Amino acid sequence: MTEMQVARSIGDLRALLAPLRAESSIGFVPTMGALHDGHLSLVALARDAAEVCVMSIFVNPLQFGPTEDLARYPRPLDADLELARGAGVDVVFLPSVDEMYPEGATTTVVPGPVADVLEGAHRPGHLAGVATVVAKLFNIVDPDVAIFGQKDAQQVAVIKAMVRDLDFEVRIEVGPTIREPDGLAMSSRNRYLDIEQRQRALALYEALQAGEASLRAGGSPEDAEHQMHEVFGAAGLETDYAAAVDPLDLSSPATGDVLLVVAARVGSTRLIDNLLVKASQRGTS
Ligand code: AMP
Repeated sequence: MTEMQVARSIGDLRALLAPLRAESSIGFVPTMGALHDGHLSLVALARDAAEVCVMSIFVNPLQFGPTEDLARYPRPLDADLELARGAGVDVVFLPSVDEMYPEGATTTVVPGPVADVLEGAHRPGHLAGVATVVAKLFNIVDPDVAIFGQKDAQQVAVIKAMVRDLDFEVRIEVGPTIREPDGLAMSSRNRYLDIEQRQRALALYEALQAGEASLRAGGSPEDAEHQMHEVFGAAGLETDYAAAVDPLDLSSPATGDVLLVVAARVGSTRLIDNLLVKASQRGTS
């Protein structure tokens, strides 16, 4: 495709993709917009994996709790469309809340136990909201491959389980976390941070690095958790969790490979990050 197309309804999107489907594979990158290089790295992976790249931009109300930032979530649509065009997206899908969740819509996806811990424990309903919108988007876009970011590791686990359990015919690929030069994971929510908060937000990555150093030195997962809490304590950040878990089911404690996961509040902004430490990188104590 040459010119990027924008579809604002489910019918328009289906009509745009129908003639392409026979000849081309479709890659899909779901987003909530406020695009940054993390999102664009997933577009690059989608373009490598498939011939047509579809990106959705939809701030999904179902995945926000009642006290969360749905109303103030950034929606810089013009800038997003420019970035999507520049990255080589072929079709942008911009559904409306009314069409995605019409009056009377009651069916939702209930994820399995992988959604009960960590984010699930601190944001009740969040991962069910994610699973529901992704199921709907998969049914609408019907992609061959969909790309998600490791930044949201639990989301990846929930989506993979849903695809397996509900027989979605889509391959899931995972892109690495893209970071600012100082290590802060890129996030649309970083826009909320003032200069002082932006500095303090570095504690998330520093905590992960401290946890990694501990594991590399032969420390146990509990030691790594302790080191991460130390960093948060010193930075004065309120943590929701700082845990060393199994990368597949996010259960604790981890045995071989360890996924270090953190969630913390910087002012009113809640940030998450994670780092995988392979069993082969762990030292012996
Ligand atoms: P969001 O717009 O926050 O819903 O994110 C859309 C997709 O981009 C999800 O698959 C995220 O995991 C992914 N993503 C967000 N931040 C990053 C990042 N820093 N690096 C790589 N992928 C990311």
